[in-house]
Amino acid sequence: MTLIGLTRDELTAVLADMGEKPFRAKQLWHWIYHRGAHRFDEMSTLSKDLRARLEATHSLDRPTVTREQTAGDATRKWLLRFHDGREAEAVYIPEDDRGAVCVSSQVGCTLTCRFCHTGTQTLVRNLDPSEIIGQFMVARDSYGEWPTPTDETRRLSNVVLMGMGEPLFNFDAVAKAVSILADGDGLAVSRRRITLSTAGVVPMIERCGRDMGVNLAVSLHAATDEVRSAIMPINKKYPLDQLIAALRAYPGVSNARRITLEYVMLKGVNDSPADARALIRLVRGLPCKFNLIPFNAWPGAPFECSSMKTIERFADQLAEAGLTAPIRMPRGRDILAACGQLKSASERERLRNYRARLATMTPEERATEEAAHGRAPAAP
Ligand code: SAH
Repeated sequence: MTLIGLTRDELTAVLADMGEKPFRAKQLWHWIYHRGAHRFDEMSTLSKDLRARLEATHSLDRPTVTREQTAGDATRKWLLRFHDGREAEAVYIPEDDRGAVCVSSQVGCTLTCRFCHTGTQTLVRNLDPSEIIGQFMVARDSYGEWPTPTDETRRLSNVVLMGMGEPLFNFDAVAKAVSILADGDGLAVSRRRITLSTAGVVPMIERCGRDMGVNLAVSLHAATDEVRSAIMPINKKYPLDQLIAALRAYPGVSNARRITLEYVMLKGVNDSPADARALIRLVRGLPCKFNLIPFNAWPGAPFECSSMKTIERFADQLAEAGLTAPIRMPRGRDILAACGQLKSASERERLRNYRARLATMTPEERATEEAAHGRAPAAP
């Protein structure tokens, strides 16, 4: 079993079971998360005997990187395979002298937001802490950022829980992963540099602030329940008044620590001057900043991106009302690494096979097949 993803207490317990004292767990922790060790025999502060016993029973395995791609704008994406063959993607988005690693919290996603590619993936399961932390460690491996550099000098400075999946539907695993990430004698990514993005799982928002203490981003995407419910089914369960109330009560929210509101610009859906006015009313008094995201297209997507002129007008309207509303330029689009484009290659492959199989059937066979396995989305 891999030791990656164990909390300090769990690692201490593993060593206690092996008859070792707590300070050994501290040393091991340092090797795993500060030094990024891949093998026990590198761990020169541990006895040969302990190294051999660890080697026999445990590993330091990360998820397997089945594909690494770097986009024209230097955004990098890893397709990762877990022990059961399921896959997820992680992305690194570099800025000038820093950058964010975007990690997934689930394989696939149950939310089915209409504009998101991940939502069309049918296989879904939660990732465990080792799989979540493993994504960040793979990114560190790829950039050789070991031992953990100081906060100021590292390129992989931030973590955003904004990849595949809904992190607040996998709360315990995500909270554990955050506690490991934030540990000062390890990966040392402070909670102020970690942002969790949720589609608005209202009952978990308060706990998120209290237990994890991370920055919160919310996929808002609409200013009225009518529009939001049409594009995000979760809004039917947790409508806007409940969501905004939960954001106002988010532990630690202040003008110095504002909530990020993500707003994907969909042509003719949520991008009119009236939408902007409704948005301004909706967030009055909430310490927040917007992130206007040009919609990233994917094969078969039922939306188009608003024109740049419309997005700029929308941004200006928010700015005139005193709101911070930068336009987030898409990154990594050429390798399908941008927001909403993540979907594992195996899933794409599976769909291609399924479509090919359907194509060989009679209409009756096809109907039976589709009733059993679902309708295949349109081919790209
Ligand atoms: N489930 C979480 C985190 C994953 S989505 C959430 O909903 O916040 C990360 C961000 O990408 C969300 O704001 C999501 O709404 C946005 N997104 C999804 N599909 C997109 C697309 N096609 N173009 C642009 N942004 C998209």
